[in-house]
Amino acid sequence: MTPCSPLRALLGLLMLCLATLARPAPAEPAPPAHHRDGRFQNQYLEFAPPGLLRLMRWRWDAARAGVPRPPQAPTPRVAADLAFLRANAGAGAAMVPTATWIGHATVLVQMGGLNVLTDPIFSERASPLSWTGPLRAQPPGLALAELPRIDAVLVSHDHYDHCDLPSLKALAAQPGGPPLFLVPLGLKALLEDAGITHVVELDWWQGRSLQGVDIVMTPVQHWSARGLADRLRSLWGGWALFAADFHLFFAGDTGYSPDFADIHARFAPRQGGFGFDLALLPVGAYEPRWFMKDQHVNPEEAVRIHLDLAARRTLGIHWGTFELTDEPLDEPPRALAAARRARGLADESFVVTPIGQTLRLPRRGTGPVAGQ
Ligand code: ZN
Ligand code: ZN
Repeated sequence: MTPCSPLRALLGLLMLCLATLARPAPAEPAPPAHHRDGRFQNQYLEFAPPGLLRLMRWRWDAARAGVPRPPQAPTPRVAADLAFLRANAGAGAAMVPTATWIGHATVLVQMGGLNVLTDPIFSERASPLSWTGPLRAQPPGLALAELPRIDAVLVSHDHYDHCDLPSLKALAAQPGGPPLFLVPLGLKALLEDAGITHVVELDWWQGRSLQGVDIVMTPVQHWSARGLADRLRSLWGGWALFAADFHLFFAGDTGYSPDFADIHARFAPRQGGFGFDLALLPVGAYEPRWFMKDQHVNPEEAVRIHLDLAARRTLGIHWGTFELTDEPLDEPPRALAAARRARGLADESFVVTPIGQTLRLPRRGTGPVAGQ
């Protein structure tokens, strides 16, 4: 070592410090475009929650027109195949992928060894109050006590017909321990205030793995509010689930938007050119269009989403259970059949089922693909 090396080392250190100081501080990453000062917005539509005037115009028009008209027939319902569902629930890797419509947006999905429940509502009314609000037209296809032990509950957003606290609390108290509750950003506090633990809240495109199944939250076009003061304060979204032998998409509530083409493009690499094995898409609560279009698809738009996602098969949900809007409760299946025909889709590619019926679905890469 030369005599001047300590001095050179000191100078070197000094230069390094100066260079570090001169470098601009790393900029705070810009918040994602859908985060707006404690509220959230859609990707493709600035959603303005309906004001009192629009709400009154809707109700006034509906009263004058005498809509919704009563359904011609009750929503079909069959007894659930409990023995099969329970046996399949514990089948592990041998689990047959299934979807059982329990009513409204509540579906029991069995896939990848998991028992998953979407937007569970088992209550009599979809309402903040137990004595008023939309009443169930049919009891749930499975009672809470008839469910297998649920591993994961997916909540799409905070509207009362999707985020029913009495149902969530009952599930949290299920024998064998609570499920994992997956909710959009801003919704965890509501559940925790209700005493529900095991809650994970996620932003769009964030995911969580559960027993080898990847669960990812996606954008959809909707909004949120439990009351007048918390509009757009929590996020909304769909859920994509990826097991080795089955890929599922659940949309929650949504208007039609390019979000679904985005979802397909984003996940296409991991789907090897094949889309979702099953999509659960809303087909009800769509009239009048001037009021509902931005937030709820009609069956024709749901068919477009089915195509955007390149779904192998779709089950239509969010109909026939709570009378929320102006179309008759039994209209969505008829409108869906017309929309399918208009697109030349095979009947089995986009179906509705009776409440309580279980669809047994082929594993990924096997069995016939529903024709398009
Ligand atoms: Zn909603
Ligand atoms: Zn809804």
